[in-house]
Amino acid sequence: MTNANFFVPGPTWVRPEILQEMTRPMIAHRSAQFGDLFLRVVANLKPLFGTTGDTFVASCSGTALLEAALTNCVPRRVLVTTSGAFAERWMAIAESLGLEVDQLNAGWGSAVDPEKLADHLASRRTQYDAVTLTHNETSTGVTNDVAALARVVREQSPNSLILVDAVSSLGGIPVHFDDWGFDVCLASVQKGIALPPGITVFAVSPRALARAAKRPYRGTYLDFLSYKKHADDGNVPTTPSIPHFYALAKQLDDIINVETLDARYRRHEAMRETTIRRTAAYAELASDADHASATVSALLPNRPPDELRAAMKTRGFTLGGGYGKWKATTFRIGHMGDIQLADLNTMLDALEEVATS
Ligand SMILES: *Cc1c(COP(=O)(O)O)cnc(C)c1O
Repeated sequence: MTNANFFVPGPTWVRPEILQEMTRPMIAHRSAQFGDLFLRVVANLKPLFGTTGDTFVASCSGTALLEAALTNCVPRRVLVTTSGAFAERWMAIAESLGLEVDQLNAGWGSAVDPEKLADHLASRRTQYDAVTLTHNETSTGVTNDVAALARVVREQSPNSLILVDAVSSLGGIPVHFDDWGFDVCLASVQKGIALPPGITVFAVSPRALARAAKRPYRGTYLDFLSYKKHADDGNVPTTPSIPHFYALAKQLDDIINVETLDARYRRHEAMRETTIRRTAAYAELASDADHASATVSALLPNRPPDELRAAMKTRGFTLGGGYGKWKATTFRIGHMGDIQLADLNTMLDALEEVATS
């Protein structure tokens, strides 16, 4: 029990000892001290991503890496699979870059169907440079079966790179970058990793680096080859958010060596089951129950969601609002990061009183 009272699906509640890490004195980012810190961080990111390959940290929010994945890896054509607002962000960025974009849309609240993806790829003559996947759709509380989707891409369109948004899954839902054949996978840290917002972690495959090497104009700030070159020297291309490196080093150490990944994933599954079970009397799950997320639930309550959230606020609890076109009808409970089951139950006790009074 931590007395967490903040259940927004990002940024999430942050442990005081993690906040404390961010107040350490500055070190020079070209120093040996920073090099040690950097190496600790990237080594512990590997088990989190499920990769033995390259992992990186960039000082920006996750959206910057969605854009960078496209600028580094996609010369022309991309297929975007969508099931809600964050998956649609891939599309908006690709369009802003002047790419040729196709969309395979499962619709809000549903998961992308691997068979429909297979049909789409089989029916198009188009060779896509990349296919984008969104592991956990935070706007609707749906987890896509990215292992199956990636398998379909690998089988049917072997030259398409697989670009994966794992922003609200990494650290809460298993990711197996190598086994699932991903090429780029990214997550900002203010969701499942439970740090203050400001940096993004990512993994890049050798295939993606080879693709980037063939792209003459891939930008400067988030040039993957520049990240790779500096990482091989234990460093980053430009001045990083050093406070975040301190916090991330401690958090990854705690996730991997204290809580352990398996226990962390089980805790998130228990939080999903508890949320669904304990809200059933007054709220319906807004999305496909078979793909219900372990990190966030979008709920359709039996009274206006804004009223519920306002009443909870007076009791000291902050819940997430509905997102985008689901804003007026749904609310969201973020049960990710370092929130414990006991905290969730305390909040759900209050929510039950508010919703059924
Ligand atoms: C929050 C979120 C984003 C956006 O991340 P930022 O760090 O705010 O740029 C992208 N995708 C998903 C799935 C998210 O939950």
